[in-house]
Amino acid sequence: MVFLISVPVLLLFGWLIWQYARPRAIEPVTPDATYSQLLQQHVAYYRALTDDRKKEFDKRVAHFLSTARIEGVGTTVDELDKVLVASSAIIPIFGFTDWYYPLTNVLLYADRFNEDYQTEGDNRMILGMVGEGGALQSTMVLSKPALHEGFDNKTSKDNTGIHEFVHLLDKVDGATDGLPEYLLPKDHSKPWLQLIHKSIHDIRANQSDINPYGVTNEAEFFAVVSEYFFKRPDLLQEKHPALFARLEEIFRQNPLATNKTVN
Ligand SMILES: [Zn+2]
Repeated sequence: MVFLISVPVLLLFGWLIWQYARPRAIEPVTPDATYSQLLQQHVAYYRALTDDRKKEFDKRVAHFLSTARIEGVGTTVDELDKVLVASSAIIPIFGFTDWYYPLTNVLLYADRFNEDYQTEGDNRMILGMVGEGGALQSTMVLSKPALHEGFDNKTSKDNTGIHEFVHLLDKVDGATDGLPEYLLPKDHSKPWLQLIHKSIHDIRANQSDINPYGVTNEAEFFAVVSEYFFKRPDLLQEKHPALFARLEEIFRQNPLATNKTVN
């Protein structure tokens, strides 16, 4: 009797594991024409793509928006907000095919917030945050004004949305530590960390134009320098060619080349 019950239970259990663990191809989702117009108008990275790559970007955006729920907290969420969140997500992984995020919720706050997610009062310095542990594991919180500012201001090196999604990429190997182990060949880890430490030293010595927030730790440095890489690749390549080359290797793309894929 026990045997008769346990066989179906084991089969079900095995099937669930297989469903969860197997590599999943990106399910086709029909891109919304409104989204490609919004991307064209508001996302400089998208405008620089070839037509073929734009079509691919449209598909990735549509897929992301079919899997992640974007909600406003004390604010509304419109189509442009959704497109900007999706762009922040797709830009860092556009060099990889079949990548997706284990993310189900993005909360947009009306303003900057503090560590208790309060948008009023002092100490509201936080522009974005990735949840740690429990139910927050699959949730990202972003300040809506900061999200927009990252795409509106064409000359800055900042993009809060990209910053937060780079933290997620960094976290794929289990540690948010500035070292995306799945993306760098093993023998490149040490030179990458040495380059981070040298760059942090330069920021501390006031000899760098990289966002000083990057001195916080290796993970924050990786996130701020990635914003710089995707936002102002021209400037990063000119001023920090070694960092540019490593980031091109990590993200498998060159944002200065129109097709943006490193072969
Ligand atoms: Zn950060």
